[in-house]
Amino acid sequence: MDIDTLAKGIGLFSSAITALRQAIELMPDGSKKSEAVAALQRAERAFKIAEAETAKKLDYELCHKHFPPEIMLSGDDTTWKCPICGNEKFTGLQVGSIPLS
Ligand SMILES: [Zn+2]
Repeated sequence: MDIDTLAKGIGLFSSAITALRQAIELMPDGSKKSEAVAALQRAERAFKIAEAETAKKLDYELCHKHFPPEIMLSGDDTTWKCPICGNEKFTGLQVGSIPLS
């Protein structure tokens, strides 16, 4: 599967989860609602993992301080920060990234 297809699939899945969450919020409280909420939480977890895998393919860094992993953000592609826990990672001086010529 190429990255565009994967990214589109994740976008559609994200929309579906949002619609599902809104539908569940309208349900009356009870055991059926609890089951639906639990199923939604499992789906959201699977979604976070798929999203993280896609981000990794797009050369984003992932925060490994929790699971599912969070996608770390960077303003300069060398210093990365997790928006959830504030964990920072520096990737600026990796062996192999220095030109030999
Ligand atoms: Zn984190």
